[in-house]
Amino acid sequence: MRLLQKKQELENIIKAKQEQMMIPLSESTNELSLYDEHPADIGSELYEREKDAGLLELYELELEKVRDALERLDAGKYGLCEMCGEAIETARLQRISHTTLCAGCAHQIQDKFIRPAEQDVTSAGEMADEGETFLISGHDFYDH
Ligand SMILES: [Zn+2]
Repeated sequence: MRLLQKKQELENIIKAKQEQMMIPLSESTNELSLYDEHPADIGSELYEREKDAGLLELYELELEKVRDALERLDAGKYGLCEMCGEAIETARLQRISHTTLCAGCAHQIQDKFIRPAEQDVTSAGEMADEGETFLISGHDFYDH
């Protein structure tokens, strides 16, 4: 199972990175170098950590998506539209792997989401993207 493998990989990477970042700066950098001939080491160490923190965030986001996909897979719903139950377009799934709506339903919802707010044409595109993300994470929005 590819998704499970991906999940395991991501969890391992995140765990390793978290452990790496738990080590206090003074312990991971040779303490002597704080006073000695390598003052640049501290700067590059900090830089590495900031880079790691950014990466960690990306990995966690990715893991979240994989978990979502696995949940839907368990429920037999992966790749199926939550609204109409039809298969989501393959190209769309490839483009937005975490989407739970087919293109048709997504547009319907985006229209509903945009109209009451009376968005103008230029910001409608942005609203549409936000609307879809909101709907995916907040299922009860259209559940009443
Ligand atoms: Zn649909």
